[in-house]
Amino acid sequence: SDHTLEYPSSPEAMDWSSYYPAFTTDTSPEESTQLKKLTKDVEVVDIGCGFGGLLVALAPLLPETLLLGLEIRTSVTQFVQEKIWALREQNEGKLYQNAACIRANAMKFLPNFFKKAQLTKIFICFPDPHFKARKHKARIVSTTLNSEYAYALRPGGILYTITDVEALHRWMVQHLDAHPSFERVPEDEVEKDECVKVMQNETEEGKKVARNKGQKFVTLFRRIEDPPWE
Ligand code: SAM
Repeated sequence: SDHTLEYPSSPEAMDWSSYYPAFTTDTSPEESTQLKKLTKDVEVVDIGCGFGGLLVALAPLLPETLLLGLEIRTSVTQFVQEKIWALREQNEGKLYQNAACIRANAMKFLPNFFKKAQLTKIFICFPDPHFKARKHKARIVSTTLNSEYAYALRPGGILYTITDVEALHRWMVQHLDAHPSFERVPEDEVEKDECVKVMQNETEEGKKVARNKGQKFVTLFRRIEDPPWE
């Protein structure tokens, strides 16, 4: 429950320096009691990142962008963080400095971690389907949560979704189509997007579905500009 979840009181209060040491500014001794600042903000988030296949595959493709996985299971979060540390070491500190994973409930406190319009991409890959109607409120795509994603994404930013469960695919499309801050990304653009291939082929779930010869439903949504105040 929430009392075991750690979350900052605001995005400014979050100390990211231990997650991205290579992207941290040196602070002078007088400043050492202050939070160390990152040279750039986290811009890409993988919600429910599981074992981190997407993060690890995207990190070398987007070497100057900070990527963050959010995962609710403590042991899985630790596994991903340790995998990233090992990869940094194997690559003599030159790669994977831009990836990290934290334990968080993505359904709660998202605005505590990210400022308005901070993110350029949000990934929702093979989220838990919660088939039963009484469990639908646990789905990671909902009217309320979509507003939080819209808040954190900058105009032009992309929300990526993929699932092998057709009913969940329809649910996500229905809720995102209905949201005034999102528009569907056309098919030709989806096909050209490098990140889509990673989402299909490098996530643990994507690999499992491929082994079982299952279908993968991909839909991308663009965060549109807010209308001017009337
Ligand atoms: N995205 C990964 C992939 O494609 O291989 C993992 C998919 S797995 C089916 C769903 C993951 O979401 C699990 O690791 C689960 O622990 C995590 N999860 C479920 N609810 C969550 C929440 N509210 N906040 C963060 N992670 C969550």
